Amino acid sequence: MPTFLLPSLRPLTVQRLRDSLLPRVLGPLVPGAVVRGPADARAPALYLTVDDGPDADGTPRWLDALARHDAAAVFFLSADRAERHPDLVHAITEAGHRVASHGDQHRSAWRMRPRTARRAFDRAERVLEEATGQPVRDVRPPYGRVTPGLVRWAAQGHRRIVLWDVMPGDFVASRPPAVLADEMVRLARPGSIVTLHDGPPARRAVAALDLALPRLRAAGWRFPLLPAA
Ligand SMILES: [Zn+2]
Repeated sequence: MPTFLLPSLRPLTVQRLRDSLLPRVLGPLVPGAVVRGPADARAPALYLTVDDGPDADGTPRWLDALARHDAAAVFFLSADRAERHPDLVHAITEAGHRVASHGDQHRSAWRMRPRTARRAFDRAERVLEEATGQPVRDVRPPYGRVTPGLVRWAAQGHRRIVLWDVMPGDFVASRPPAVLADEMVRLARPGSIVTLHDGPPARRAVAALDLALPRLRAAGWRFPLLPAA
């Protein structure tokens, strides 16, 4: 991130940005985790992922934007939010996107006892599978915070931990869409997994997408759904 932004950031935001970098650096070391999808240098793919939904205001914006750009995304949903918005969960799968697990109440696995964390992710998976009628095999712990217990839990259930290598920081209110879009274009590598957000950052994220995807498309990129594990 540009250092000139630092003085304006609150400590919480600095922590979130640090969290956004950790998975890129440490993710490749986590057994069973991915930070990138399949790469094909002739027709480079960028895999979009959207965290923290569903959201009454944000999710429709996201679905419109993805349709506009002929792009697909994996939506890592919070189970408690999915229970409140079953119609939005259906809208996501109806549009050809995939639902995956972001846990139950957006709690950090680092702050839960291992058994509590396992139960939370089990419950989230059950809720999302009931809501979609489909198996939910991809999981992204909130903040990308992985624990040895979660790695074991994922391996036992043949689940895949999906992290990312591109997170432009749409959750920082002071970052304009043009900056987010530049960051996406600058960091994208064939097979990159990009993390953006539903909820309050959705307007900013979608505006960034409207700027970045046409540029990438013109350079030959496509935006397919991250292949299932
Ligand atoms: Zn999240």
